[in-house]
Amino acid sequence: MFKIELSGSPIHTLSVICILVPRKCSVIGCRGNYEPRKGESADVNKVSVFRFPKDDQKKNEWLRKIPQDLLPGDITDDMVVCEKHFEQRFIIRDYVYPQPDGSAFTCPCDSPALDTEAVPTLFPNTPKYLSSPLPPKRKAPEERRAEVAARDEKRLRDWMDSDTINGFDDFAANVSDKSSSMRTEWMIVNKSDLVLFVLLVNITSSLYGGP
Ligand SMILES: [Zn+2]
Repeated sequence: MFKIELSGSPIHTLSVICILVPRKCSVIGCRGNYEPRKGESADVNKVSVFRFPKDDQKKNEWLRKIPQDLLPGDITDDMVVCEKHFEQRFIIRDYVYPQPDGSAFTCPCDSPALDTEAVPTLFPNTPKYLSSPLPPKRKAPEERRAEVAARDEKRLRDWMDSDTINGFDDFAANVSDKSSSMRTEWMIVNKSDLVLFVLLVNITSSLYGGP
């Protein structure tokens, strides 16, 4: 950590405000992540959202499941579908790590993820006929356990991969994403051959204890 010392007068201070706005659900009529209406609580529409799958086949499956009336005219890569449209069994909210003694270590995900089999089938606030819950799939317990273990292993691997820095170029390219949870007072200056983390300090306050 370092502090920028400025001399001379007048002393200028600069505030950087960074607000991350969660994406709104793309399903027409759904208010996922929309501003609350008057009188509603602040987090009434707060939801987790999921991007469309990158795999074309899976993406088309999603598009087939969402009623045409509820899809915008243009399908873009920025579109997201919120958790209200998925059965709970498809939403992964915890990492589960099986332990050698047969128990399992669980910790909550930073943000929920979707099971690879997930498709949007629920469309609340629309006529019932538009929703088409999938019939529950019955799998042998061993098959299900093996799938869960493989899935958790893959998620752990993906998480470790996503947290690995492969050289400066990789670091510089991803530093903005990785630092989104940093305090907003920090500013990132990304040049071709260096990345600066700058903490702006209100020197007037520091010196005189003012606001
Ligand atoms: Zn939604």
